[in-house]
Amino acid sequence: MHEQVAMSSPDITEEDVQAVAEVVRSGRLSLGPRIEEFEELVASYIGVKYAVAVSSGTAALHLIVKALGIGPGDEVLVPSFTFVATVNALLYEGAIPVFVDIRPDTYNLDPEDLERKITPRTRAIMVVDVFGHPADWDEILDIAERYGLRVIDDACEAIGAEYKGKKIGQFGNAAAFAFYPNKQMTTGEGGMIVTNDPGIASLCRSLRNQGRRSTGEWLEHEYLGYNYRMTEMSAALGISQLRRIEVLLANREKVAQMYSSYLQGVEGVRLPVVLPYVRMSWFVYVVTLSQGLHRDRVMQVLAEKGIPTRGYFPPVHLQPYIRKSLGTREGLLPVTESVAGRTIALPFHGRMSESEVQMVVEALMEAVSRCTP
Ligand SMILES: *Cc1c(COP(=O)(O)O)cnc(C)c1O
Repeated sequence: MHEQVAMSSPDITEEDVQAVAEVVRSGRLSLGPRIEEFEELVASYIGVKYAVAVSSGTAALHLIVKALGIGPGDEVLVPSFTFVATVNALLYEGAIPVFVDIRPDTYNLDPEDLERKITPRTRAIMVVDVFGHPADWDEILDIAERYGLRVIDDACEAIGAEYKGKKIGQFGNAAAFAFYPNKQMTTGEGGMIVTNDPGIASLCRSLRNQGRRSTGEWLEHEYLGYNYRMTEMSAALGISQLRRIEVLLANREKVAQMYSSYLQGVEGVRLPVVLPYVRMSWFVYVVTLSQGLHRDRVMQVLAEKGIPTRGYFPPVHLQPYIRKSLGTREGLLPVTESVAGRTIALPFHGRMSESEVQMVVEALMEAVSRCTP
């Protein structure tokens, strides 16, 4: 059936279009002034010293892992309830992901399970602020300090989020943001490394550009690097989007509140939990069905009504390639596995109208009542 609403949608204005067109017309399409301007804007928005623009969120995570010197045999604590890119960034460098279970309310890393899984080979913690809800930073940073671990923040879903009044991106050794079109702001494809560590920043800057040094000759390569550069067109779009980030976030928040008010009290459907001391940056709107409801059938009924949904997230430790390489299986992470079988991401973006939200809610209520045993 034809889709009645979009699963996600970038918010593009005529100004965004003009900003990109101007770059295309200028003929300077890479390694130009827009990249630097975008980096400075992001650094000052987040409140960190350095920002390094790259070609994707995955590239940002990979370069942080590499810059921290994490390599073969190093264990890194990481959630399984995340997008695969979080874990892949570790696998690219031969590190060993050690999967940690999540809290049953926010679905972020469970600090107790985190501490339990530390071994003498643990080098770092890869934190995810899942769905735009900040992780438990006080507890995580305390554990990291006590055990001497490095901390990476996969903040790819959390631009603009705050933990106890501090912006996400300031925590840990470095953080990664992503700008794929379904994120809160977009550059088409793109990512950003943010850090207060000058060593990490300069190494990432070199690695994204084939291992060149900013001071060296163009054809002199200090390291084995990559082409992870962002284009000037993407940076121009990023600048234009970041200038109205607060509007973008507020629009999404409004849609999330609409969903929550219409879904309040609906039997079998649990709303997203937002802790009192955080500012959530709404990446997706995810509801959790009660035990016993058949999630996949609910999604099927919704699809038949033209409502697209996603089962965010299938646990990474149960993905075929991870099972094969790491030997992981069901039973490893009870909370993750229970939650992952019951979550549904509903259609969500900042330009959804109230009648679209109502249509999704009505369809969901009917689907749930049809699938109640
Ligand atoms: C979007 C996302 C990424 C990075 O995605 P790219 O498509 O590479 O930009 C990484 N981690 C998480 C949790 C994400 O949601």
